Amino acid sequence: MTPKIAEFLARSRPHTPCLVVDLDKVEENYRRLRRALPRAEIYYAVKANPAPPVLERLQDLGSRFDAASLPEVEACLAAGAAPGRVSFGNTIKKASHIARAHELGIDLFAFDAAEEVDKLAANAPGARVYCRLLVDNGGADWPLSRKFGCSARTAVDLLVRARDKGLIPHGVSFHVGSQQTDPGRWEGAVARAAMVFTDLRERGIELRLLNLGGGFPARYRGAVPEVEAFGEAITEAMHRHFGNAMPETLIEPGRSIVAEAGILESEVVLVSRKDPADAVRWVYLDVGKFGGLAETMDEAIRYAFATDRDGDPTGPVHIAGPTCDGADILYEKTDYRLPLTLRAGDRVRIGSAGAYTGTYAAVNFNGFPPPGEVYL
Ligand SMILES: *Cc1c(COP(=O)(O)O)cnc(C)c1O
Repeated sequence: MTPKIAEFLARSRPHTPCLVVDLDKVEENYRRLRRALPRAEIYYAVKANPAPPVLERLQDLGSRFDAASLPEVEACLAAGAAPGRVSFGNTIKKASHIARAHELGIDLFAFDAAEEVDKLAANAPGARVYCRLLVDNGGADWPLSRKFGCSARTAVDLLVRARDKGLIPHGVSFHVGSQQTDPGRWEGAVARAAMVFTDLRERGIELRLLNLGGGFPARYRGAVPEVEAFGEAITEAMHRHFGNAMPETLIEPGRSIVAEAGILESEVVLVSRKDPADAVRWVYLDVGKFGGLAETMDEAIRYAFATDRDGDPTGPVHIAGPTCDGADILYEKTDYRLPLTLRAGDRVRIGSAGAYTGTYAAVNFNGFPPPGEVYL
């Protein structure tokens, strides 16, 4: 927790649940990633945290933006981004949204299928487009699965198709999976992308851009490699596979920019034992899967918890949210321990909660509104 957040919580004791984000930490994360990969443009993945204060701070720092939808495109423009600095990076877009984004001046679009190329040609004529490759997401705590991307062979065909339909075949992208903890995982993806560049050169198309995606991890419970290690591994992979024919590169970090900048302040609603003989207590918080902690699905992202009673003896717990839905359990398999003195009314701070939380909250499930949000 940053000193600014600690001071705010002590002074204001906000109504819980409440997401509190330190924008100076957002800035620090941005600058550090910039230094680690100085040749790559940063397109902040807006979906990780689209709050206007985050977008505005990044806009002031010179960031570009990766938008997943028309409303995200509009949010970037509202934050002051020039349309030429916004990429429409979702491979799945409605024709009407493509047309509107193009009308607003957006000139860079992703695709991974023939039908999407045709939609782009019809609704964003002459735009620059890049094809997303399907790559291995092993090593990622939050893999993006086989939902996105296509094979290298398909990518070559689709980029040719794009040219034939009057679009500008601009490059290739991939995403190695979110919360990717292994810097070595970019290597295979960069190699595959380089093959596409080579094949297209033989067909008279000179690609300019390699989009290296996001995936850079945040620190939750356990340590992760420093961002510099990712910078080195990626730079090395680029030299190995592109040599002197280095394309422009960009990255689309989301989580690594905002996660550690935020904490989610919550309150214990109930501590119980199912039986006096049970060693494990159930701790129910006022925030759960439907309050924004969706990434606890399959216990994939393991948040760290802090309480005012830290230092007291601890015991094992299961941790759950407040709703009347059996799926609203955060951790039942992962080994968590909290102070034995913990009781209803205590505050619990969930660390590194600045990414993929606020906007994941249900609108009003069980009558609970989404967490409040404060940007400092
Ligand atoms: C979600 C997403 C990102 C951001 O990923 P992080 O793991 O949060 O860095 C980047 N690019 C695309 C296309 C995405 O869908």
